[in-house]
Amino acid sequence: MTAPLDLDFFRRFLDRATRVIVIQAPYLTDLDAAIGDADHGANLKRGFTSASGLTADTPGALLTAVGAQLTNTVGGASGPLFGTVLRRMGKVLGEEPVVEPAALGKALAAAVASVRRLGDSAPGDKTMVDALQPASDAYTAAVQDGQEVTAALDAAARAARDGAQATVPLRARRGRASYLGERSTGHLDPGAASSAMLVTALYEATDPELCAVDPEPLAVAKEERPQEPGRVGLVLVSHSREVATATAALAKALVGTGDPAPVAPAGGLPDGKIGTSAELVRKAVRAADQGAGVVVVCDMGSAVLTVRELLPELGGTRIADTPFVEGAVAAAVTASAGGDLAAVLAAAEDARTYRKLSG
Ligand code: ADP
Ligand code: MG
Repeated sequence: MTAPLDLDFFRRFLDRATRVIVIQAPYLTDLDAAIGDADHGANLKRGFTSASGLTADTPGALLTAVGAQLTNTVGGASGPLFGTVLRRMGKVLGEEPVVEPAALGKALAAAVASVRRLGDSAPGDKTMVDALQPASDAYTAAVQDGQEVTAALDAAARAARDGAQATVPLRARRGRASYLGERSTGHLDPGAASSAMLVTALYEATDPELCAVDPEPLAVAKEERPQEPGRVGLVLVSHSREVATATAALAKALVGTGDPAPVAPAGGLPDGKIGTSAELVRKAVRAADQGAGVVVVCDMGSAVLTVRELLPELGGTRIADTPFVEGAVAAAVTASAGGDLAAVLAAAEDARTYRKLSG
């Protein structure tokens, strides 16, 4: 059944949005701490709660009033931007008591266009536009496709969440986060995250039962926090468990600083017999991987072939063209000193040229 887009619907949307923002404010502020000034959640919470008592006679008038209140109370760049979204939607919806699905699509599209104009921002800039634009596009496409409003809003909410998630690898080109340049990559944009929550609230407003359940408070995941740069790891693949283990011990012992990079042996078969095991190599690569890449040093024959076959599935892993013991020691020393993947590989391969007799 299609929910009527009447005053009750938009009231439910604003109540739901306010509830979700209040619950997720610490999370949104944490996101802003990583690439901004740690106020996004607090800003939105202040704005939405201060607008929660507003009333009006039509959906358009209600959105316009709340939008004006957000502009005045949110503070921060997001205040006027979210204020514009709601005011523009309110204006386009006009005085209709019940909004047609296609009219809501026009209002969303106009609102996103206003944000883009005001913020001079486009998709890919790592802002709220990266969530709002796909949401508006998905809603319009679904309605044109003949879907009912609940399904179209569901599609919009999914597109907004996907769009927000897709800001993680982007470099910010607008707002405070852009001051960080390259360092803004690897983090979710707070305004895109809150926009996805607001579009999701619009979908949830179609069903009072969805609005009755509070969301779990989110926490910033560990991988979203700045990572300590790891060192290049080393994996030693020999036909013999004893040779791999002893060479790893030797390589670590010869690291002058006493603080060796990870060195993981992968010797023999799982039952200890002579041979090469892809499973043991995979396990060793996982153990040695700190995110900076892994160099594999192997002895001969099937060890080389097994590793070469595994390389495509082991992203960031390289095989060193070097003798086993000498290469392992050289690679361990360079990796422990903090050398990057290319440096560790070069050090290992240099070991091939060590002469044991001069002349
Ligand atoms: P401030 O950055 O002033 O502290 P907030 O922390 O409340 O404001 O909001 C930050 C969010 O605002 C960003 O994550 C981004 O999504 C959005 N934003 C900032 N500048 C722009 C812009 N020029 N265009 C679109 N969105 C922007
Ligand atoms: Mg901020």
